[in-house]
Amino acid sequence: MEKSKVVVIGTGFVGMSYAYALVNQGAVEELVLIDIDREKAIGEAMDLNHGLAFAPRKMTIRAGGYEECKDAGLVVITAGVNQKEGETRIQLLNRNAGIMKSVVKNIMASEFSGIILVASNPVDILAYVAWKESGLPSNRVIGSGTSLDTARLRYEISYKVKIDPRNIHAYILGEHGDSEFVAWSNAHIGAKNINDVINDMDEINFEDLDQIYMKVRDAAQEIIKRKKATYYGVGMALVRITTAIFNNENRIMPVSVLNDGLYNCESDL
Ligand code: NAD
Repeated sequence: MEKSKVVVIGTGFVGMSYAYALVNQGAVEELVLIDIDREKAIGEAMDLNHGLAFAPRKMTIRAGGYEECKDAGLVVITAGVNQKEGETRIQLLNRNAGIMKSVVKNIMASEFSGIILVASNPVDILAYVAWKESGLPSNRVIGSGTSLDTARLRYEISYKVKIDPRNIHAYILGEHGDSEFVAWSNAHIGAKNINDVINDMDEINFEDLDQIYMKVRDAAQEIIKRKKATYYGVGMALVRITTAIFNNENRIMPVSVLNDGLYNCESDL
């Protein structure tokens, strides 16, 4: 990629938390905002531009149209409705699948040839819808998967054992939703397996593991109950994925990808 250009589609809570984190981390050179509410996208671009005097790098930020996707390395889709209190992510499917199809059609009409990253929920299914609609190779359409949930897990373990979350190596796997699970057998703190940590430390015991899992699984509902939506954590997770892509990091991250037989999962796609 000649320059790091990102187009964000959907300038709501998630899209703008992502954009704000991109600017603060100086993660890309060029950022374009698209929303069905064009005036909102323009206002958001103005607001972000006013922060450039304090940003760690020079950036170009503007609102635009789908033609901007043509030379973008990454298009991040955060358009769509979010969960209301008590609503599951799957219940958003019908509303957001229609939005996803029309958004991807517009992206592809621009002769886009980069990577699509989906954050809208239910993210795993919508990443699949986006891949189907795009006609792109499957390794160029991904979803944010359980990257946020994994960050939540690392935080919860870290809080319990009082060790930096960056030293917690543990993953939430499965669908980003109520059926997700923790790969406890492969959870490590520093170089130590969590079983050994539990044996050696008073701060954490085996019963805590269930509590931690439930806290992570139910985190979105707990936040939505209090402030109607969740967005900062996912915004930062999306920046992490973005940086890994533009820097070609070969980093291991729990994202949504097409499974064409891995782990003996049969697929009739
Ligand atoms: P929001 O309502 O604040 O923002 C959605 C934005 O999408 C709005 O600005 C709206 O105008 C725009 N939009 C709607 N239809 C559009 C279209 N056809 N084209 C362009 N823009 C369109 O919602 P939010 O809180 O930002 O959530 C966005 C999505 O992200 C939801 O589906 C939510 O569930 C999901 N989400 C995902 C994660 C994750 O971990 N993947 C975490 C939190 C939220």
